[in-house]
Amino acid sequence: MALATRLVILGKQGAGKGTQAIRLSENFGVPRVSTGDMFRVFMKGDSEIGRRARKYVEAGDLVRDEVVNEMVRERLTELDAADRGFVMEGFPRNVAQADALDHMLSPHHVDLVIELNVPTGVVLKRLASRRVCTVCGLNYSIDAPPKENWSCDACGGAVVQREDDTEAVITRRLDQYDKQTAPLVAWYLATDRLAAVDGEGHPDTVTRRLLRAIENRLARR
Ligand code: AMP
Repeated sequence: MALATRLVILGKQGAGKGTQAIRLSENFGVPRVSTGDMFRVFMKGDSEIGRRARKYVEAGDLVRDEVVNEMVRERLTELDAADRGFVMEGFPRNVAQADALDHMLSPHHVDLVIELNVPTGVVLKRLASRRVCTVCGLNYSIDAPPKENWSCDACGGAVVQREDDTEAVITRRLDQYDKQTAPLVAWYLATDRLAAVDGEGHPDTVTRRLLRAIENRLARR
């Protein structure tokens, strides 16, 4: 059986994690695991996880670790991720979650954690114009909308502005990133699992940079 590929993308809101994770999951034939998308799906239905997450997601705060960790643990036991691996985005978001992920994966481990770097001024502009498919999570912007009537080109789902992409909530989410998530860079660097990739420029250029970084790493295993 081919080796599984387990990748994590870190980066500020608006850095392009969602767009690039979809491309990498297609490239490597592994599922994309996005905790933000999972919460949005759970919140649409009538579910215990949705109820427990809602107030945090709406305020731009982190959902409690035990809720997120359990959701991810269950997702990773599904066959696709257990057999082939994953491209994960939105998790881990703090050191406790990163530690929990290592335990979930043991005796395996993350092959590479990518820090997708984009300056804050650029992400603020991107977030203000971002629109997202409510069904498959594909990202658009007001400058690059879907071809027809705000229906997703890939799945036909409604493309809308996220409720937490307002200025006040964005500021709070970026602040959370600096305080809680940015320390993960040093945490993963210390165990030689991190590659920093420039996330500015055309999405195709960024994908090429990511593939180069990942393939270099996978060649070493
Ligand atoms: P995202 O789409 O990744 O920006 O996530 C949207 C929201 O979901 C975040 O602002 C949090 O409220 C929640 N969320 C997503 N992933 C996590 C996580 N790993 N830990 C805690 N909360 C999360």
